[in-house]
Amino acid sequence: MICIPITATNMEDALKDRDAASKIADIVELRLDYIKDPNLERLLKGCTKPVIVTNRPVREGGRFGGREKDRVSFLKLAIELHADYIDIEHDSRDMIHNVPADKTQIIVSCHNFSETPDNLYEIYQRLRQGNADIVKIITYAKDITDNIKVYQLLQQVTSPVISFCMGENGIISRILYKKFGSYLTFASLQAGKESAPGQISVHELFNTYQVQRQDSGMSVYGLIGNPVSHSISPVIHNTLFQEMGFNSIYVPFRVERIDDFIREFKRLPVEGYSVTIPHKESVLHYLDEIDPMAKKLGAVNTIVNRNGRLLGFNTDCEAALKTLERVNQVSGMNSLSGKKIILLGAGGAARSIAFGLKERGAHITIFNRNYERARLLADEVGCSSREMHDLSATGADIIINATPVGMFPAVDESPVDKSMLRPHMIVFDTIYNPVETKLLRDARDCGCKTVGGLMMFIHQAAAQYKLWTGHMPSLELIEKTAYRRLTGRE
Ligand code: NAP
Repeated sequence: MICIPITATNMEDALKDRDAASKIADIVELRLDYIKDPNLERLLKGCTKPVIVTNRPVREGGRFGGREKDRVSFLKLAIELHADYIDIEHDSRDMIHNVPADKTQIIVSCHNFSETPDNLYEIYQRLRQGNADIVKIITYAKDITDNIKVYQLLQQVTSPVISFCMGENGIISRILYKKFGSYLTFASLQAGKESAPGQISVHELFNTYQVQRQDSGMSVYGLIGNPVSHSISPVIHNTLFQEMGFNSIYVPFRVERIDDFIREFKRLPVEGYSVTIPHKESVLHYLDEIDPMAKKLGAVNTIVNRNGRLLGFNTDCEAALKTLERVNQVSGMNSLSGKKIILLGAGGAARSIAFGLKERGAHITIFNRNYERARLLADEVGCSSREMHDLSATGADIIINATPVGMFPAVDESPVDKSMLRPHMIVFDTIYNPVETKLLRDARDCGCKTVGGLMMFIHQAAAQYKLWTGHMPSLELIEKTAYRRLTGRE
């Protein structure tokens, strides 16, 4: 079930938000501690969805700063008025133990805003004693692996429990609440109306993660990277899962330490991962098997979990080549062989592109900010390298940017001076956010053929999806979904 907390600070707004939330949520939480002079009778009257009444004190992360007796008297009144649920803090529960509550379920809650302790089961056992119908244990995730502690708690419990982690690292426990086994999850009515850190909006929960389709048996996939919050991969893969009828969900994993993550997440069945910056290379050490192409490239962007064994693949290289070959064809040229290529960057993407182009017989020169890295890559591939300050592109057939220069939010930067661009050139920018970078705008102005990173992204996402499910998705659907998410336009 999805519960929307009402965080308005006056009665009129609270009533409006309560009505708006009732149209979408399964349960509405009235946060009396936010509302100035709350009239509980009015708030409960006419509400079309079940209600949780909460009056959180400052010590548990709420806003009620008055006397404890006054605070709890609102909860007693809620029981008298037959509210569906009240939420009472674990250290105040004795104050209502004599109050008959036949029509109201008692949620006994405990919040930890600084960490996720190891003894969650012990806390659960303590909280479930006495008058608790439902136990609520909310902690703060300092690291993504803290979510596993909550998952393990929820696998062990024998009575209804609401549990998830707060903070950016805890978002997955909010999204995967059915898989984890939590009684409900919270979502804000809209951005800016959150009642706790890491709470995402109900709109995002429905549109990006399609929680309405979730059940406890669904397969989990996800993106390993840092940062991951702006990635468009969740909306793409979740749309594909929905359209192609797979009972699966894809979520972002913000990973700081790849070794801890891989070890701890073996406890939660995750069927496959995408891997992005900065873990594409380091993840190789923690996999059970690596595809020969990924081994050669020294980078993995896709992981498949086959019966508990993690297998690594790389779909970037093929995706970049398909993109270039397509634009090359459109430009009336039938092969990449013999083409003079300037490749900017010597990181993971540049590496995939350099090896792929070498196999197609292209003449590549690598330029990189850190020249030593360019030289080492060029030696491995068997091509040339030059210092960045020697960059002169005028003789090139194709220029490829495989650096993040020009990526959102630095959208007015370009790695190549416009004066170097000539009309006969093909310019390929691997960046896909924005869809058209400054480099591509400049190139278009100069009459070059241009192609952006979105096409490469589409091909690599499709190849990933096929590795996980065995089915090739529609490239048009990926493009439509990605374009809509990136530009807000159809
Ligand atoms: P990476 O492994 O971290 O490598 C980044 C490269 O960019 C390095 O060569 C780095 O140079 C260079 N660089 C970073 N900041 C720079 C700056 N301010 N000025 C000049 N050079 C700079 O990252 P990656 O995975 O290769 O990704 C690189 C780009 O490719 C990103 O923009 C990413 O969005 C794009 N990409 C796109 C797709 C797609 O599907 N469209 C897939 C993968 C990657 P140093 O060696 O000097 O640090």
